[in-house]
Amino acid sequence: MNPTLFAANWKMHHGPAAARALVRAVLGKTAPREGRRLLFFPPAVSLVAAVEALEGRADAAAGAQNIHWEPKGAFTGELSAPLARDAGVAWVLVGHSERRHKFGETDAETGLKVRAALAAGLSPMLCVGETLEQRERGQKEAVVRRQLEAGIGDLDTSMLERVAIAYEPVWAIGTGVNATPADAAAMHRMVRDWLGRRSSGAFRFPILYGGSVTPNNAAALLAEPDLDGVLVGGASLTPDSWLLIVDVSRAGR
Ligand code: PEP
Repeated sequence: MNPTLFAANWKMHHGPAAARALVRAVLGKTAPREGRRLLFFPPAVSLVAAVEALEGRADAAAGAQNIHWEPKGAFTGELSAPLARDAGVAWVLVGHSERRHKFGETDAETGLKVRAALAAGLSPMLCVGETLEQRERGQKEAVVRRQLEAGIGDLDTSMLERVAIAYEPVWAIGTGVNATPADAAAMHRMVRDWLGRRSSGAFRFPILYGGSVTPNNAAALLAEPDLDGVLVGGASLTPDSWLLIVDVSRAGR
């Protein structure tokens, strides 16, 4: 069985000192647990501090929130996958809805970023999800399938099996309105079917849910067998609420 992934996306919060303190506070209060991995996605400026604060804990890793697809060059303000790797990062978010909808990141760019991450030895977590308008038009599955196709559609099996997916409906991110566990699970099954058709079928792909996860709803969401973890923004910003979420235990896991 895959470990359950608890991923904290701090967006544009927590400079190096705050990131170091938060990683330490969380890890100091929760011992490594079989079947659980903790992932921290701080802002780029805080990556090194977060990596240092992990102090080699095998159950925890740091990730970047975004990368450029070129490995190096004249791209002022950008972070490349090799530079992130150099900083000790293991993961990278690709195609977060804020990148897609606030910065105009295209489907094609997500594909380039996934490949750049894999080439540098990082694990990409491809974020997919529909807007409210797309959902109301009955397009949620088609939108997510299109995002999967563009992001990872032409990866061979060995590459595909290094990717995680985060299903994050746009209408649920930062709104306080989460997808119901049944609704999230139905989308996860759709994603899992899509992945199953592209791979050997034996591999269990990690598929996380994100969108207004809190200590109040995390247990119900994670009770769904098709959810392999959660990607959390707001509720991961303080040790108290994040610890309540990462300490949710999963029956039978
Ligand atoms: C996110 O940033 O990926 C996210 C899901 O945010 P929130 O938990 O605040 O909805």
